[in-house]
Amino acid sequence: MRLLLSKRQILAKVSLYYGAAAFVGLLFGHLLLALLLMTLGHLLWQYKHIFLLDKWLWRDRKLTPPAGDGSWQQIFDGIYFQQRRERRKRKELRTLVRRFRDGAEALPEAVVVLNEDWNIIWCNKLAQLLVGLRWPSDEGQRIDNLIRSPEFHQYLKQRNFQQPLEVMSPTTSSIMLECKMMPYGKAQFLLIVRDITQLKQLEQIRKDFVANVSHELRTPLTVLQGYLEMMDGSAQPAAPIWQKAHGVMLEQTRRMDSLVQQLLTLSRIEAAARVQFDQEVDVPAMLALIQQEAETLNRDKQHSLQFEIDPELKVTGAPEELRSAFSNLVTNAIKYTPPGGVIQVSWQRDGQRALFTVTDNGEGIAPQHLKRLTERFYRVDQARARNTGGTGLGLSIVKHVLSRHNSQLLIFSEPGQGSTFSFALPPELVLGAQTPKKRAKFKVK
Ligand code: ADP
Repeated sequence: MRLLLSKRQILAKVSLYYGAAAFVGLLFGHLLLALLLMTLGHLLWQYKHIFLLDKWLWRDRKLTPPAGDGSWQQIFDGIYFQQRRERRKRKELRTLVRRFRDGAEALPEAVVVLNEDWNIIWCNKLAQLLVGLRWPSDEGQRIDNLIRSPEFHQYLKQRNFQQPLEVMSPTTSSIMLECKMMPYGKAQFLLIVRDITQLKQLEQIRKDFVANVSHELRTPLTVLQGYLEMMDGSAQPAAPIWQKAHGVMLEQTRRMDSLVQQLLTLSRIEAAARVQFDQEVDVPAMLALIQQEAETLNRDKQHSLQFEIDPELKVTGAPEELRSAFSNLVTNAIKYTPPGGVIQVSWQRDGQRALFTVTDNGEGIAPQHLKRLTERFYRVDQARARNTGGTGLGLSIVKHVLSRHNSQLLIFSEPGQGSTFSFALPPELVLGAQTPKKRAKFKVK
């Protein structure tokens, strides 16, 4: 692009024209008239170019500039250059937006772009099908006015998008949707919705299958176990090989029985509706029973069992589920601690929360196993688990129960030192005064 004339060049040009006019004026003795005519000509020349500029910009709307003289040609060229640059930029932007939209359309998920006030900026075709949005008429509408579910409202209100949310489709009640909100750019959000109906159905089939099989296995197992136990007490002496076989059969049927029991418990918890937190749970009484059971289990092991229970600390929740969680953690500590260990069980207030802790000085667990402990059938040491009669389901039951009570299991463990399993029930489930109560002393057995 050519540069505009410099100030000095313009001054030189103007001086030249006016100088020439003055010279001619002096020559004919009409200096003022000559200067006036010159000024008039100059003005007309300027107006002509302003007119050309106005016509080009507002009436012709063409890209190519009009032909101008002198400095005006440079002005026209400058505007032309700027316009071309803007057009190129706009084209690039359009291509970019088209590419983004084509990409979003090709996704197998519904995509909705939202601003921070949850107004719809854009959505793809699948969002129109799955969520029932209408484009472009829903542009600018709040998404929570169109997905009218209390869970979805809560999800947006909490602004915690780490976990996806499952909601019923606003268009078809038999369709289950999974919504994932992802913040991006400057105060923008991407709502990604996918149809998980089939996944949910498969999950339900799996749950039903496990529940049905476990249920069907119960009767034959009970019969088998009953007969084996009857034979155990029979007066007739049996051959040593039979005695050994009988012992193994009895042990294995008991193992199978506890496996079936735990599978049933897990299925029951999974199938149960949301916990209604209107039922009072007398945890101290529950723990007193668990303590008795633990003492029976502890007969062979001779651990020192120490229970420190706040006698007034009660909560609300599902009693059977909580009993299962407490009992599993206490039983595990006894099972996985070598004879003569120390096991401490504590149920105390921790600020507003109720804290349950089981600490043992057993073998502990290596760090690489800690994350997977609550998976179904996960056992650190298969051989050892076989000896202890473990099923690998206990901690997954605990995890399920706790997530239904807005809590989670914390595990601290050091190989060779022991482990601490704990969880805290949130304030909204804890009954009674907020101030710490009188505590029971350690009861050493
Ligand atoms: P299991 O029926 O095998 O006890 P769990 O789900 O209760 O199944 O526990 C999973 C695994 O976690 C156990 O097999 C065991 O290896 C480990 N574990 C659980 N509790 C303890 C503990 N207190 N000390 C050491 N290891 C433990």
